[in-house]
Amino acid sequence: MTDNELRTVLAARLASVYARIGVACSRANHDPAGVTVVAVTKTVSPRVARLIAELGVVDLGESRPQELWRKAEAIKDLPIRWHLVGHLQRNKVERTLPLVHVIHSVDSIRLIEAIADFDMPAESRPELLLQVNASQESQKHGFSYHEVGEFRTLYASKRLSVTGLMCMAAYSDDPEQARATFRELREFRDRLKEHFRDIPWWGFSHLSMGMSGDFEVAIEEGATIVRLGTTLFEGLEAE
Ligand SMILES: *Cc1c(COP(=O)(O)O)cnc(C)c1O
Repeated sequence: MTDNELRTVLAARLASVYARIGVACSRANHDPAGVTVVAVTKTVSPRVARLIAELGVVDLGESRPQELWRKAEAIKDLPIRWHLVGHLQRNKVERTLPLVHVIHSVDSIRLIEAIADFDMPAESRPELLLQVNASQESQKHGFSYHEVGEFRTLYASKRLSVTGLMCMAAYSDDPEQARATFRELREFRDRLKEHFRDIPWWGFSHLSMGMSGDFEVAIEEGATIVRLGTTLFEGLEAE
């Protein structure tokens, strides 16, 4: 496809996504301005990522650090806010941190410590979301609810801004299956907010939940960030 053809496809898909977000928000009485779309570009080429950014979607996500580095380099002339949504190995912290705006996938104490140890100015540090293994599947990364409750011991890490939680619902053809998981994450977040209210830089305002198959349900349950890949990029060029 030419750039123009791709632009047309992407613009139509974005319009459909925003319309669906609007409907979900009005059902739940939420302000659509409170929902950020992260376009997860992991299946498409840097060219497609560039085109969607030029259409105004500046929050882009990748699940693999190396791929994020590659795309960030390829479109570094644009004001992208990069989101890492997949597992971050500790040996990739140094190279990844300066590139990203939000890490959605902080999934272990050891990783938090590696991030805290990396020396960078507080104001350019990425926001951190704690990944919760909300669907409690053993193969998924993330904290259990129980572990997050014990985070008071991380008090000293003032340099880190923990701004919310992220989860992935178990895969299902029926988005309603995800509702209980999303609701549980929100209720858990509300309890954490209360628990940590004496640590103002741990805001817990964000809930990163909802993907192509279930983002409307996630929004109804309070998502502030939805991470969309397939619905935007299905069938578009990979390289
Ligand atoms: C790939 C991915 C997404 C996007 O998923 P789709 O179902 O394609 O929208 C969202 N979050 C994470 C963590 C991912 O790895």
